[in-house]
Amino acid sequence: MNGITIALSKGRIFEETRPLLAEAGIVPAEDPESSRKLIIGTNRPEVRIIIVRASDVPTYVQHGGADLGIAGRDVLMEHGGQGLYQPLDLGIARCRMMVAVPEGFDYAMAVRRGARLKVATKYLQIARQHFASKGVHVDLIKLYGSMELAPLVGMSDAIVDLVSSGNTLKANHLVAVEEIAAISARLVLNQASLKMKRKELQFLMEAFARVAKPLDAEVSV
Ligand code: ATP
Ligand code: MG
Repeated sequence: MNGITIALSKGRIFEETRPLLAEAGIVPAEDPESSRKLIIGTNRPEVRIIIVRASDVPTYVQHGGADLGIAGRDVLMEHGGQGLYQPLDLGIARCRMMVAVPEGFDYAMAVRRGARLKVATKYLQIARQHFASKGVHVDLIKLYGSMELAPLVGMSDAIVDLVSSGNTLKANHLVAVEEIAAISARLVLNQASLKMKRKELQFLMEAFARVAKPLDAEVSV
């Protein structure tokens, strides 16, 4: 496919990507929130944007449906990152992957006792790896959304979910007890595209790098 195809998800990723696109001189022709189009043109005839589910961004890029995309680290950890070049942490869509439990549940004690925990989550790979590395035995329950509900109805002891303000947890009488990872969104590139369209993609990477605020930068300052 000629030209450049960028995979983005609606909502926070799209909104936080606008300034990055602007730095590269790219302005989307339509707003994905109001348009039903899945392919959106831009002011630059050779650049188009496809609108996909956040968790599908790595898949589109891996299989060449898009040359590049922007995906949360959570999504990339679940996907595994095969076939993707990940040159840049953009520092957008920041949040934290946390373990949360109902107020009053003594998580540390349960872990010390070697209790077997029921954990509800959308992030099976991340949760499996986290608890395995701690030597905690868990039964994972796969959900697709509203993980907060599971402990409230007695279906799980804990959840693994993204937390930013913590307001959703608080509203449901849950508390975050352990951080699994700091999350932000990253640029991902198709490896074949990088070879065949190096000049155009290099230009985009440099523009994005100028306005990126990577998590690592804060640590090293
Ligand atoms: P869907 O809503 O289609 O099921 P999703 O919940 O993964 O998918 P978004 O809510 O748009 O999609 O989230 C996209 C990305 O933004 C996530 O993968 C994550 O990296 C990041 N993110 C999610 N929740 C937050 C949050 N509360 N604050 C900051 N960033 C977040
Ligand atoms: Mg969501």
